[in-house]
Amino acid sequence: MSIVLLYHRVSVPVDDAFDLAVHPDRFAAHVEYLTKLGGTAPLQDLVESRVARGIAVTFDDGYADNATVAAPLLAEAGLPATWFITTATLGHRRFWWDRLCRALLSSPIPDSIDVAVGGRSLWLDLRTPDARRAALAFLHRRLLPLPPERIESTLADVLDALGTPPSGHDDITMSIEQLRQLASLPSQEVGAHTRTHAHLATQSADRQRDEITGSVRDLERLLHQPVTSFAFPFGGPGTVGPLAPRLVADSGCQVACTTLPGRVGRRTDRYHVPRLTVLDWEVEEFAARVSAALGR
Ligand SMILES: [Zn+2]
Repeated sequence: MSIVLLYHRVSVPVDDAFDLAVHPDRFAAHVEYLTKLGGTAPLQDLVESRVARGIAVTFDDGYADNATVAAPLLAEAGLPATWFITTATLGHRRFWWDRLCRALLSSPIPDSIDVAVGGRSLWLDLRTPDARRAALAFLHRRLLPLPPERIESTLADVLDALGTPPSGHDDITMSIEQLRQLASLPSQEVGAHTRTHAHLATQSADRQRDEITGSVRDLERLLHQPVTSFAFPFGGPGTVGPLAPRLVADSGCQVACTTLPGRVGRRTDRYHVPRLTVLDWEVEEFAARVSAALGR
């Protein structure tokens, strides 16, 4: 059996409320360990059982540090990896959860705000750091299933209530140039991750098609190469829905990853490939968790 690792960022962010970042030193140690184990396999080789026992590396979302830090390190070590890119945030547009995180955690804000989310009026206590974190988690949960334009309008209301100016461009997410550099590195595959990182299960059929097929075509246009791997945003229980895997197959993708844990073998559904989410682990813990996931 094989496993697929899932990373998001290799960086030291000011605030990492969603546990997305692995420290660059620890990531370098992970890479060294994977090299010692015999390297990594291309995702599709592993899913199609061309490799019987292997490890594939994947990164979700399209943060800039993927292109500037993580991909060069993997390519230099000769380790194949797959990079799942959200296409609407290409060009240094910050993800909505990062804008929410920055607004709630790193600026002077009022003691409380009143906002309407999903048709309900809410009062949010923001007096203490714990209260702000609770408000962030609460808003994240409430915004996540909404259509992208409602997420944007609600976020605009929240930022307005907080007195935070809306932030447009910054260097947290990848530029198109960085994406092209990443794609040109040896053995690095670019896959799609929707246009806006939409929670697919709660979107209309048309919206799901636009998000899935649209992101595959966006990347093919930008990179002038076929895109045949996909990862579902969020990817946990109840976030994918029954239609999305079929749309992924229709868009020409051979493989789709979830964030559900598990091993990959001959019986794995290639449109529900499980992954092991890697956190900011010291190499000893990384090694232990990889061994446990492989069932060794
Ligand atoms: Zn994602």
